[in-house]
Amino acid sequence: MNVLLIGGGGREHALAWKLKQSPLLEALYCAPGNAGIAEVADCVSLDVADHDAVAQFCRDKAIGLVVIGPEAPLVAGLADDLEAHGIAVFGPSQAAAQLEGSKGYTKDLCAEYGIPTAAYGRFKEAAPAKSHVAAQPLPVVIKADGSAAGKGVVIANSHFEAYSAIDACFTGAFGEAGAEVVVEEHLSGEEASFFVLVDGESALPLATAQDHKRVHDGDTGPNTGGMGAYSPAPIMDETLCKRVMDEIISPTVAAMKARGTPFKGVLYAGLMIQDGAPKLIEYNVRFGDPETQALVMRLKSDLLPALLATAQGKLHGVTLDWHDAAALCVVMAAKGYPGDYQKGTEIKGLTEAAADPDVEIFHAGTKRDGDRVLATGGRVLGVTARGADIAAAKARAYAAVDKIGWPGGFCRRDIGWRAIKR
Ligand code: ATP
Repeated sequence: MNVLLIGGGGREHALAWKLKQSPLLEALYCAPGNAGIAEVADCVSLDVADHDAVAQFCRDKAIGLVVIGPEAPLVAGLADDLEAHGIAVFGPSQAAAQLEGSKGYTKDLCAEYGIPTAAYGRFKEAAPAKSHVAAQPLPVVIKADGSAAGKGVVIANSHFEAYSAIDACFTGAFGEAGAEVVVEEHLSGEEASFFVLVDGESALPLATAQDHKRVHDGDTGPNTGGMGAYSPAPIMDETLCKRVMDEIISPTVAAMKARGTPFKGVLYAGLMIQDGAPKLIEYNVRFGDPETQALVMRLKSDLLPALLATAQGKLHGVTLDWHDAAALCVVMAAKGYPGDYQKGTEIKGLTEAAADPDVEIFHAGTKRDGDRVLATGGRVLGVTARGADIAAAKARAYAAVDKIGWPGGFCRRDIGWRAIKR
């Protein structure tokens, strides 16, 4: 089968690496891809905002499955338009992608179906949002309704800070994403990520993971897209996973079907675990980045038939085997990230660093310039290793990091600390 993968980040390199191992795969194309993906796929230049052009490419190359990595093309309805041309797509419709595209939509769905989540209010104007906030205990959480690349969420420790966050949204700091504001009760506990394949009706849980969003060691500094991740999440024991399925995932899948907008693709639940009970913080409608880099290293089974079954509504009865071993991904980013950073710096030592068969280096923001690999983005590499446990995976990942010669980059040195402390 010929597959087209949309995206060019570390998540897509991890998916491409895994798909490439499938005996069912004939040709793998990726738009736009990156220097790492180019080693396992044919990277093509396609305007993914031009849905007709993508459909035409699929016809020309006899694509049997399109896998959409990032959320933006999903929210823009790429899956709907390709399916209208009879092309199988892994990824939800525009209507179902609202689970990520609108926080208010998801909160209302949780309220309607009794799914545990933080108490909330939705506001279209600043004054009522502020009056509501004034009556809330601190800290209080202010969110732009739409996706704002992780920057639209403020945990306010004072009412003044909360009012400023509300004003920022309504004065356009996040564009359309801030046209509505969600005010939430602050939850405390431990966060975990839970991934499930959903074919509209059936749901197949994948492995659990945890990530580190803050830029500096000790989980300090500004939020980022993610500085590292590991799988499994030790807090997610079997009982808790069953509760998440019963109390959060299954009611969501049933609700989306009942609303006439069945969810198809990967549902990624961001959870807060407090006193052994799970609450939903948010849904994403695509694989996590960098969690996927760790997940694929633990997956024994072929990923391609599972993604195809998801796209075709035939997930019932599909099972996946996982390595008992843990996997851990350390993100290397350009110095300055998540603020301004320099582009075009050279990265050396990648072959030596990847020599260990239990290490994979997934590229995010890279490009090739002759024999050289150059950094082109903020998050640049995901150095990922398998090990008997998280501590062993961590040691192996950092041994590989230390072989990479990249003066323009940095990484956290404590990925996995919480799991190891447990
Ligand atoms: P954006 O839409 O800007 O991309 P996001 O989708 O990452 O943001 P959330 O996942 O809802 O937004 O929130 C980001 C982080 O903020 C969470 O991972 C969590 O650490 C924290 N957070 C969000 N909501 C709450 C809450 N109600 N209580 C405590 N922490 C929260």
